[in-house]
Amino acid sequence: MESFRESSVVLARKYRPIKLSGLVGQDMLVLALCNAISNNRIPHALLFSGIRGIGKTSIARAFAMSLNCIGADGSVRSPVTDACGLCSNCVSIIASSHCDVIEFDAASHTGVADMRSIIESVGYSSSSARWKIYIIDEVHMLSSSAFNAMLKTLEEPPDKVVFIFATTEPEKIPVTVLSRCQRFSLERIGLESMVDHIITILDKEGIKYEKSALSIIASASEGSVRDALSLLDMAILKSGGGDIVADIVSNMIGISNREPARILFSQILSGNATGVIKVFDDMYNSISSIESLMSRIMEVCYHATLIKIGNKDIVYRSCQTDYVEKIESIIESTKLSVILRLWQVMVNRGKVLTGGFVSKIEIEMFFVELCHCSLWPSIDDILNIVDNKSYNMSHNVCDTKHGNVNINGSSDSIKQETSEVSNVCVNSSCIIKNNAINSNSIGVSSNIPITNRSIDILNDVNNYFPNSVIVE
Ligand SMILES: [Zn+2]
Repeated sequence: MESFRESSVVLARKYRPIKLSGLVGQDMLVLALCNAISNNRIPHALLFSGIRGIGKTSIARAFAMSLNCIGADGSVRSPVTDACGLCSNCVSIIASSHCDVIEFDAASHTGVADMRSIIESVGYSSSSARWKIYIIDEVHMLSSSAFNAMLKTLEEPPDKVVFIFATTEPEKIPVTVLSRCQRFSLERIGLESMVDHIITILDKEGIKYEKSALSIIASASEGSVRDALSLLDMAILKSGGGDIVADIVSNMIGISNREPARILFSQILSGNATGVIKVFDDMYNSISSIESLMSRIMEVCYHATLIKIGNKDIVYRSCQTDYVEKIESIIESTKLSVILRLWQVMVNRGKVLTGGFVSKIEIEMFFVELCHCSLWPSIDDILNIVDNKSYNMSHNVCDTKHGNVNINGSSDSIKQETSEVSNVCVNSSCIIKNNAINSNSIGVSSNIPITNRSIDILNDVNNYFPNSVIVE
């Protein structure tokens, strides 16, 4: 076989799946299509949705081949689940040159005139194929008038005509069109399947590798075969004819390796500002961009949340086992509310930090801020702390200039008694406005659990989360 090094064809094209059986990681979808063929229940319109580079148009072509394959000796008279790939129909469909299998890119042909030309041709029977097939890629890009023009044809399609739509954004397709299609979602390829697929290709190419390098590529591809093979192309070039090793791949992808982000997150979660500054300083020169670092840390935070709420299996689909185990041990004694608080700060501040040029100082300060946030007690903690003090609010509350405060459903105005109480009242009146705290804890308790310290903390929280459920 021709080696990749002697070939100018990129791997994603060279190893593009041709038959239904060759599709990676889409077993359920392939089974459903094979059943449709075996039971002679071919849908007139199919919609394949999924992320870019996952194989939507490949599966559309493979299905077109299965419907039209006549076998290598021309003896096959009906659709087959395993197309030969050798007959005249198969060969021209693979080459995208079959006159009865029309491929159409909706991204560049969005108008109603383009759609009319298709609709007019639908009426003519196929010239050599068994089924006339229209593959419309990025179908969500069609204009609404183009969709309307298509509706009548979709409702009463001529015999032996199949529409296959592919899209990355099915939610942009009108419901009237969706309801006339059989919908199939293509799943992201899991880490293990992706690594196996890459190994198969490298074995065919005669290229040696470290498995950990392939895991990094598979992880960075986020489930897209095309992205994984593009990264593999780059890794082969970077390796300059040698083995594909983890160091080269990590370097090539930059910070895409999750380990630095995991270490930073671990320091942040433990509130170790000294540690986070040191770790960040050590890795600063190897960071390709602040955006990628931020998105990786947010990803770790997301994974931590999934693990905490009991969806560890979802994290396993795209991450290595040791990474998941490390995250699990980091968050073992951390409350979900703390992780969610960090997420909220990252979302709020991260947009500013990734919006343009950001200095190292700003990032360092941001990390220190996150460490600070991770040390805040939860609302439950605050209530527990001050519950011990059993501060009875039933006869002390409010600075009159703050008006009436509604406690336990009454509208009594209560006089301020001491300066300490004044502090409590002024702040608590702000807090008591808040439904979340008022109804669930403070307002319904006769022993109002508030101290100056907890008020400071709540004000601090309020500054950080002006629109959050905590205080708004
Ligand atoms: Zn064939």
